[in-house]
Amino acid sequence: MRTEEPRPIRLKDYRPPDWLIDTVELDISLDAAATRVRAKLRLKPNGFSTPAPLVLDGEDLVLRSLAVDGKELPKESYVATPEQLTIAQPPNGPFELEIETLIDPAANTQLMGLYRAGSTYCTQCEAEGFRRITYFLDRPDVMAVYTTRIEADKDDAPVLLANGNLVAQGSLPGTNRHFAVWHDPFKKPCYLFALVGGRLARVADNFTTMSGREVALHIYVEPGKEDRALYAMDSLKRAMRWDEEAFGREYDLDIFMIVAVSAFNMGAMENKGLNIFNDKFVLASPATATDTDYAHIEAVIAHEYFHNWTGDRITCRDWFQLCLKEGLTVFRDEEFSSDQRSRVVERISSVRALRAHQFVEDAGPLAHAVRPEAYREINNFYTTTVYDKGSEVVRMIKVLLGARLFRQGMDLYFTRHDGEAATVEQFVQCFADVSGRDFTQFMRWYTQAGTPEVVVARHYDPRTKTYRIDAKQSVPPTPGQPHKEPMVIPLALGLVGKDGRDLPLMLDGRRLDDGVIEISKPDQSFVFSGVAEHPIPSVNRTFSAPIKLNLPLDARELHFLAAHDADPFNRWQAVQTLAMSLLTENVTALRNGAAARSDDELIDVLAHALGNHTLEPAFIALTLTPPSEADIAREIGCDVDPDAVYQARRALRAAIGERLRPALAEAYHRLSASAPYRPDAAGAGRRALKNLCLDLLSATGEAGAVALALSQYQSADNMTDRMAALETLAQQDRPERAQAFEDFYTRYADDPLIIDKWLSLQAAIPEAATLERVRALTSHPAFSMTNPNRIRALIGSFAQANHTQFNRIDGKGYDFVADIVLALDSKNPQVAARLTGAFRSWRALEPRRRERAERTLRRIAAAPNLSRDVGDIVARTLSGG
Ligand SMILES: [Zn+2]
Repeated sequence: MRTEEPRPIRLKDYRPPDWLIDTVELDISLDAAATRVRAKLRLKPNGFSTPAPLVLDGEDLVLRSLAVDGKELPKESYVATPEQLTIAQPPNGPFELEIETLIDPAANTQLMGLYRAGSTYCTQCEAEGFRRITYFLDRPDVMAVYTTRIEADKDDAPVLLANGNLVAQGSLPGTNRHFAVWHDPFKKPCYLFALVGGRLARVADNFTTMSGREVALHIYVEPGKEDRALYAMDSLKRAMRWDEEAFGREYDLDIFMIVAVSAFNMGAMENKGLNIFNDKFVLASPATATDTDYAHIEAVIAHEYFHNWTGDRITCRDWFQLCLKEGLTVFRDEEFSSDQRSRVVERISSVRALRAHQFVEDAGPLAHAVRPEAYREINNFYTTTVYDKGSEVVRMIKVLLGARLFRQGMDLYFTRHDGEAATVEQFVQCFADVSGRDFTQFMRWYTQAGTPEVVVARHYDPRTKTYRIDAKQSVPPTPGQPHKEPMVIPLALGLVGKDGRDLPLMLDGRRLDDGVIEISKPDQSFVFSGVAEHPIPSVNRTFSAPIKLNLPLDARELHFLAAHDADPFNRWQAVQTLAMSLLTENVTALRNGAAARSDDELIDVLAHALGNHTLEPAFIALTLTPPSEADIAREIGCDVDPDAVYQARRALRAAIGERLRPALAEAYHRLSASAPYRPDAAGAGRRALKNLCLDLLSATGEAGAVALALSQYQSADNMTDRMAALETLAQQDRPERAQAFEDFYTRYADDPLIIDKWLSLQAAIPEAATLERVRALTSHPAFSMTNPNRIRALIGSFAQANHTQFNRIDGKGYDFVADIVLALDSKNPQVAARLTGAFRSWRALEPRRRERAERTLRRIAAAPNLSRDVGDIVARTLSGG
C-alpha cells in the first residue's frame, strides 16, 4: 500500500538515464509462494565522467543478496528498501550487478509483475510491473538483450515460456524439476519482458514470411479448449500477412507465441514474441462466442501482433509518449479490420465508440491531451484519449498527406528509429521529411485536450456561381488548459447536387481532387467557383477529423443526404443527426411532463434504409440504431436527467417497432433463413440486422414479439442469436425473462467467460430492482472479486452501461459502486481505478444526482490508505471541469 502523497511526474523533467543496461540474464525458480529471482545486469554509464549513484526501482521486493563483478557487496555500500535499491558509489565504468530477490506470486492480487492466474504463472510488466520482479531501471528508454532461464516443478509447470527463441531445456537430475532457457536477440525495455509457466495445451501452426522464413505459431490455452483457439490462430496469420502487404513489416523471431490466461487486468499485452492475453480475446467457438467476440478477437490479436513493430522494435522514450505506440497501433488494427471487413461499417463503429467514450472523457474532469504533460499514476493514462483519439490523429496525418506519402513516412519511421525508444516529435518529423510539410501547428493535436468544435456557415451566390463555406473553430477549456490555440483540421467535404451527385470542387482556381479543405485559423472562408446549382454540403466525410461539427442543415437537407450522399458515412450521419434532434427535443418534453413526439419523416427514412437491399445488412443495422444514451447525454451537455434520456430513446425504439412492424418482421424472417454459422463479416452483418429487427419489434412490448424472442432463445444454434434473444428478453419485465436467465445459467454454469455475459446482461437491466439483483449476484458462486473479468462483467456493466440505475436519484447506485471500489482498492487498485472512472460525467447531471455523486466521490477521497490509482482518479474527478 502506498500512502505517500504522490508528486506528479512531468514531461518537461525528462532526462536520459545515468546508467544503461546492455544485457539482462534472469534465472527464475518458480514457486507459488517463494519464487527466487536472480538477475545479472551488465551496466554501463550513459556517457559521463564521474559516476552517478545507481538508483534502481523496486516494489514489494525482498532482497536476498547483491554482488558487484562477482563479489558480494558489503551492507554499508547500498540501501535496499522494498521500493528502491541505491548504490551510492558504483564502479567507475561498466560493471556486472547480481541481484537476488524473493517474490510471492500467489499473494500478488494486483496482477502486476509475476503472479498466478489460476494455476498458471504469468507476468504483466507494462507499465511498471517489472520492478515487482527484480530491482531495475524500470523505464522504457533502458533497452537490453534478455536471456531468461526458468526452472519449475515438472507437474506444476510442464510448460515454461519467455521472450525470444528457445535455446536450451532439460531436467534437473535427482529432482522433479526442469528448466528452459529463452534468448531474445532484440533489445527491449523491461515492460516487454514476459514469462509463463503452467499446465497449458498448445495449438500449433506456422507462417512463411514474405522473405521465405518459417515461423512457428503457438497458442497456449487451458487444456480442453484447444478448438476454441482456431479463430485466434487464423486471425494471427491474416494479421501477419496484412502487415507485410500494408506496411512492409515482416516478423523477426523463429517463433511467435500467445498465451491465454483467465485473470488479466487488461485486454492483452504485446510482450516481444510472447503475447499474453485475457482469455476472452482468444477463446471462441460458435456455441460460446458472439459475432462481437469474434470481431474483438480478430482486432486484439492483430493489435498486439502489430505492436511487434510499433511498440517493440520501436518503443516509447517515456510513458508520456504512450500514444506513439498505442494510437498508432489502434490505427493499424482499425485499418486491418477495415480491409478484412466492411470499411464503412468499421468506420461507423469506431466513431460511435469514440463519441461514446472519448468525447465523453474529453468533455469531463478527466480530459487530458493525447500526450499528457504530467501524471501521478501512469496506469490511469491507458485511456480512450491516448488510444482512440491517438489513432484519429494518425488518421488525420494520412488524410493530410494522402496514402502514398503516408506510407513513405511510415517506412522512414521504421528505418530511422528501429531499435530505439522514440518520441512523438520524431514520429511526426518523418512525415514532415517525406512531404516537406510543416507539422508545427498540427502537433497541437497531441498537446491540447478537448474536442474541437467547428461551426460551418454556407452561402450560395447564384449570380457568380460561387459557394462560400465559413468555418469557425474553437477548442473548449479543459482542466489545466483554459485557453486553446487553433488546430489544423482536415475536413473532407462534398457539394451534393440535386441529382444526388457531387459537383466538381474548384477552389482558388484549382480542382480539389481529394475534397479535403484544411482549417488552421480560428475563422476561415473557402470560396468554391463554378458551382452550377445550389448544393447541399456534406462535411467531415468519413469523419476525417475527430471534431464536433456544427452545421445547421434542415430536415429536408438531412433527408436528402441520408438517401443520396456519395459518402456512406455521412448518409449514416444524416440519419443520426435527425434522430438526435428528435431525441434531445423529447428529453426536454418528457422532463416537462409532456409526451414524446414521434417523427414520421425520420421513420420513413429508416423504412427506406430497411427496404434497400443494395445496402449491406450491417450498415442498415447501424442506420436503424438510435444514438446511445451516453451520446444523447453528451449532446445535451448539462443538467442531464438519465431517466428522461432513457425514456426518450425507448419511445423512439418503440415508435420504430410500431410503425415498421411488417417490414421488420419480413426482414427478421428473411434473414433467419438458416445457414451454417460462420463468423465472417457478412454473416455477422445479417445476424446484426436480424437481431436488431427482433429488438425493435419487442420494444413495443407486444406479446407476439416477446414470444418470438423466447423461441429464438430456445432454438438458437449459435451464441450470437441466443445472446441477442436474451438481451431482448432482458428488457421485458415478464416471467419469461426469469426463466431464460435461469436456463442460461444452467446451460453454461461451467464456463466463466459465458457466465460473464449472464452477469453483465443482468447488471444492465434498466429497472429499479437491478441494484438489489446486482448486490445479490456479488455473493453468487459465479462471481469473484479477485477476477477482473467477473468484476468488469457485473460491476463494470452496472456502472458504465446502466445509466438509469447507476445514476439512481436516491444515490444508492453510487454508494454501491463506491463500496466495491473501496473493497477492491487494496487488492487490485488498477481495476478499482477503472471503476471509479464511471463517475467522470457527474458534473453534467441534474442537481440532485450531481450532489449525491459528489458526496460519494468525497467519501471515496476521504477513505484511509487509498491507492495512488484511485486517489488520482477521484482527486481529478472532483477538481477538474
Ligand atoms: Zn496496444
